[in-house]
Amino acid sequence: MSVPSKEFDEVLRRLSAASRVTALTGAGVSAASGVPTFRGAGGLWREFRAEDLATPRAFARDPALVWEWYNWRRGLIAACQPNRAHEVLAAWSRERPGFSVVTQNVDGLHERAGTVNLTRLHGSIWMLQCWSECGAAPWEDRRTPLDPRPPRCRACGGLARPGVVWFGENLNPSDLAAADAACACAVMLVIGTSSIVYPAAGLTDIARSRGAVIVEINPEFTPAGADIGLRAPAELALDALARRVG
Ligand code: NAD
Ligand code: ZN
Repeated sequence: MSVPSKEFDEVLRRLSAASRVTALTGAGVSAASGVPTFRGAGGLWREFRAEDLATPRAFARDPALVWEWYNWRRGLIAACQPNRAHEVLAAWSRERPGFSVVTQNVDGLHERAGTVNLTRLHGSIWMLQCWSECGAAPWEDRRTPLDPRPPRCRACGGLARPGVVWFGENLNPSDLAAADAACACAVMLVIGTSSIVYPAAGLTDIARSRGAVIVEINPEFTPAGADIGLRAPAELALDALARRVG
C-alpha cells in the first residue's frame, strides 16, 4: 500500500467524510498475529475441519476431542499479540465518535488492543458456559492449558463448553441487536472475513440497504459484494489509511 491507488484515495475520502463508520471483522484481521483462519492455510487441526469440531453435535459426540482442539487454540492465541490492524481499529474506536467494531473473532485481540464500542458476535474463547444450560452465568477462564479432562460447570458440576457461538447455533439476541444498530453507518469496512458465515455475512446487505458504502479489505475476493475493494492484508491497508485519514 505504499503507492496509493485510486481505490485507496476513494476510501480515504469516504472515511474522512463519514460520521458513522462500522468495521466488520473476521479471522483475517488476526492472521498477521499468527492466529490461523478457518479457511486459509493452517485451517485444519489434525484431519479435522473447523466445521467438524465447532458444532453442538461434535461436542455431544466427543467433548474431550472438542476441548482438546480448544485447548490447542487457546494456547496458540495466548502467545499472540494484537497486530497493526487491531491497533488502528482500536484507535479509531476511541478517537472517532460514531466508530464501532463488530467482530466474528473469538480470540480477544480487539479487546487486548483497547477497542471500545465492540460487539463480539461469536463470543469469546476465554469464556466458558454450562453445556446443559443450568442457568449459571458464563465465566471467564484464561488458563492455558486447561486440565486435560473437559472442564466442569461451577454451579451444577456438569460439562462446561467454550463460550463461543458454534455453527448452527443462534447468536445472542443483544449482540445481534447491537450489530444491527451498527449497520446504520455511512461506511462499512468489511475486513478479513470470507463473508460466508451467516448471519454475520448478512450484515453487509443490511448496511447497504441503509445507504452504506461497503469497503472490503481482504487480499482475496469474497462474496461480500463490496463497492470498493482494497486487495491487501488488513495490517498494511489499515496502517496506510491511518497515516492519511483526517
Ligand atoms: P475465514 O477463516 O472464513 O476467512 C478468513 C478471511 O480472511 C479470508 O477471506 C482471507 O482471504 C482473509 N485474510 C487472510 N489473511 C488476511 C489479512 N492479513 N488481512 C485481511 N484478510 C485476510 O474467517 P471468518 O470469515 O472470520 O469466518 C470464520 C468463523 O470462524 C468466524 O465465525 C469466527 O468466529 C471463527 N474464527 C475466529 C478466529 C479468531 O478468533 N481469530 C479464527 C478462525 C475462525
Ligand atoms: Zn451447569
